[in-house]
Parts: sequence; structure tokens; C-alpha cells
Amino acid sequence: MQLREDIRNIAIIAHVDHGKTTLVDQLLKYSGTFHKHEQVDDRAMDSGDIEKERGITILAKNTAINYKDTSINILDTPGHADFGGEVERIMKMVDGVLLVVDAYEGTMPQTRFVLKKALDQDLTPIVVLNKIDRPNARPEEVVDEVLDLFIELGANDEQIEFPVIYASALNGTSGEEPDEQEETMDPIFKTILEYIPAPADTKEEPLQFQVTLLDYNEYVGRVGIGRIFRGSLRVGQQVVVLKKDGTKKAFRVSKLFGFKGLKRVDIKEAQAGDIVAVAGMEDINVGETICPQDHPEALPMLRIDEPTLQMT
Ligand code: GDP
Repeated sequence: MQLREDIRNIAIIAHVDHGKTTLVDQLLKYSGTFHKHEQVDDRAMDSGDIEKERGITILAKNTAINYKDTSINILDTPGHADFGGEVERIMKMVDGVLLVVDAYEGTMPQTRFVLKKALDQDLTPIVVLNKIDRPNARPEEVVDEVLDLFIELGANDEQIEFPVIYASALNGTSGEEPDEQEETMDPIFKTILEYIPAPADTKEEPLQFQVTLLDYNEYVGRVGIGRIFRGSLRVGQQVVVLKKDGTKKAFRVSKLFGFKGLKRVDIKEAQAGDIVAVAGMEDINVGETICPQDHPEALPMLRIDEPTLQMT
């Protein structure tokens, strides 16, 4: 099987305040995905108004980070149990997770909640023990707690062998040992490239794209965000949506967006493994599959248990 070595798709999961946002900010900074004149002035993943109000991350966002020749898509996940359906859907777009755990606090209720979902989807985990700069950090004990949690949640033989990176997202350091910290995020990037499986390269096969999240853009209307599971997509292509009620609806892809850093960028085409936003179909819904007219094959429906929030 051919692989797309130029891509990795992961979700970042953690209990609230364990440092997801700070970590993604640092990864962006170290990757050089930002040009010097661009500033990460707002915190990367915490920019939604509702989130600011509540102080918790509840809207899913994708940050695309280039590291060497690979584009790493990091999907943020809400840690809150009210968004279980959304967490599950995000897990369907990725091949692995970065589990961030505070090296002082240890595993917490949301750590358990999101890790369970990741393990159930057979995703490959990487554990980041964050905040090792904290005076009372107890990294060795917390790693044991994490291991116990993996066992308790029924991790499989491979998942239980998770690599651990110790980090201070605050100070921008990371390393394979708590007391051997490099002033870069390289150990995290290297671990992602080594451990997280690259997507299968199935661009020659018939298209299958599933809408996992919805967005609305005032210029192009409703936008479906998801991963291309098979085949390829391009602007202008005639496709059909397999609707929830079993009907088919033809449409033409009017716009395609990829991700770069924290921004969405116009692209002309994309292939299996890519996470993209597709415009052109006004009444598209979460869970529906886009495919070629002559090859209508729906992916299994997704669980939706909350009103779908719009991203800004
Ligand atoms: P999130 O809720 O998981 O996105 O967590 P944030 O990234 O917002 O971080 C929560 C708090 O922990 C903030 O006050 C951060 O400055 C702090 N924080 C994040 N990473 C570290 C770290 O490595 N060390 C210390 N001491 N504090 C950190």
C-alpha cells in the first residue's frame, strides 16, 4: 500500500488547562509555519467568542503545521462531555492523538473521557507530559497514572506502548526525559512523524469524502469540513451527496479550502488523506458522503448528539 508520507492527521486531547493551546502555539512557532511578519498574537486555538466567555475550548479547529516536508494537521477537540459526538467525529478524521497531561495534576476526568474515545477508535497515541517546569511536577508518577488509565480503558497491545515526551509548553522545551530538555519542539515533531501512521494514498480510487463538521462563510455559504478518505477532489468537479434520507443530490464543487497554520487557504484540488472544506452544496449535513455520480458508496453515518455549532 502506498502511503502519503507528506501528511499526518492527529487530534490533540487533554483535560481543560493542561496546556493544549499553549503547546499548539509553540509548535507553530517552532515549525516556522508563520512567516516572520505574521504574529501569533491571539492564542492559536482559543479565538472563538464563546470560548473566550467560557474559558474552555469547545469549538473544533484545525491547525496545519509544516515540519520539514510534512504537513501535520492538528485537530483540536472539546474536552467537555457535552460534546461527545463532536469528539467522536473528529477522531474519525485522524490516525493518532497527542494526549497532553499536566505533570503535576495528573490524569483528570476529561483525560479519561477523551482518551477512551481515542482508544476505542484504534488511534495511535503519543503522550505529552506537559508543565514539567512546575516546581511540584511529578512526571514519573504521572506516567504511571497514565499507563494505569490506558490499561483500565482497554488499550490494545500497541497503544499501551505509547511514547512519552516531557515538555514545558510554556517555556518551549521538550525531550525524551524530564531532565533532558531541548529548547525546541523537535522531539515532539519527530515522535509524531515516527509513530503516527501516514494516510493511505488512494487518489486513483473513486472519491469518498465525509462531512464531519459544518461551517458557514458569508461568501460561499455552507461549507462541509472533513477528510478525503479515498480518491481526489477538485474545484469544478461534478459530484453527488448521499443524503441522510437515502436520496442523492448532484452538485458542483464551487470552492475548496485547505489549511495553513491557523488560516484557511483556497486550493484547486486535494487528495485522499487531506482534510479540506468543500463549498457548493447549500443543504449539506454532517455525516453525509460526497462521491462520484457513478460510484455512490456512503460511509457509515456519524453520531450527532448536540446542535452543530458554527465555527468562525
Ligand atoms: P488548554 O485549556 O489545554 O488549552 O490550556 P492552556 O494552553 O490555555 O493553558 C492553561 C494554563 O496553563 C495557562 O495559564 C498556561 O499559561 C499554563 N501552561 C501551559 N503550559 C504550561 C507549562 O508548560 N508550564 C506551566 N507552568 N504552565 C503552563
